[in-house]
Amino acid sequence: MQHFLLSAQARTLSVAKVARLSDDVAYDMFKEMRWPENDGKAVCPHCGHKECWSFKTRKIFKCKSCEKQFSVTSGTVFANRKLPVRDYLLAIAIFVNAHKGLSALQLGRDLGVQYKTAFVMAHKIREAIGADIQDIKLKGEVEVDGAYFGGYVKPTNWKENRKDRRLAKNQNGKRRCVFVIRERGGRTVPVVIKSENTDAVEAAMLKHICRTSTVHADENAAYDALNSLYNMERINHSAAYSDGVSCTNGAEGWFSRLRRAEIGQHHHVSGKYLHAYANESAYREDMRKVDNGTVFDDVLKTCLKKRTSHEWSGYWQGNKQIGEILAHPN
Ligand SMILES: [Zn+2]
Repeated sequence: MQHFLLSAQARTLSVAKVARLSDDVAYDMFKEMRWPENDGKAVCPHCGHKECWSFKTRKIFKCKSCEKQFSVTSGTVFANRKLPVRDYLLAIAIFVNAHKGLSALQLGRDLGVQYKTAFVMAHKIREAIGADIQDIKLKGEVEVDGAYFGGYVKPTNWKENRKDRRLAKNQNGKRRCVFVIRERGGRTVPVVIKSENTDAVEAAMLKHICRTSTVHADENAAYDALNSLYNMERINHSAAYSDGVSCTNGAEGWFSRLRRAEIGQHHHVSGKYLHAYANESAYREDMRKVDNGTVFDDVLKTCLKKRTSHEWSGYWQGNKQIGEILAHPN
């Protein structure tokens, strides 16, 4: 069977196609995606009024009711934009087509913008596509598993200075556990926790898994106390990866893809952004059988529906971590 990504069906969008759009066409496309309920005509983001003046010389609108001015990106992830609208469409196209994740260095090079600009842009996209994960509740056959990411400690040069980097006391405090919950045939929900202990996994499971579900987990003792909450199916990995009834192969497959994104694209995934990369990986996983044109539409619509969070607006002003981020660009 042909791999889905090689099929013509998967190729409904190309970066070249977006790059060839004229500014006017890109602008109209943005308007149509932003205000589909008003046939692509401006809707005031301040009061919701559907009639607005537009100006011939400047690409801004003025509400006929509250008389406030706004642009096509006001109140969205791309508010206060400094680049032409087409560049944001390009950024999304490049992001969507990078099936194994995308580094900010790569995005910056492809768009011809500074590393800082690309870093924030990619994180705004991640934030938008990860926003609904908080509210997801899974049911039916569900797999759970945990794996540790981040907090890379560089080995010292001389052998006598080396410490056992597997021990918690020798790690740098940024190491976190990604606990993943996957509904078979459904969505993927990652939750970042400090460690895979009973309290943390119980809280995440109660939030994201319906009580009527069957939960598949490995032999980790953290799950032993959860039999009263769910119908638990356990697989002993030292004996087999699947005994015909229970397995966590879906959860583990997702981890191997997140691990590849960490190693291949992002190099250092710090504790602070681990949830963002995990959410991105979950989104890609859940959309893997959807053609890239549809994924592009979905990402763009999501970005236009969502306001920029406080975290990412004006990110480089007054950010104490600036030195650390620029020391390890990814
Ligand atoms: Zn208004």
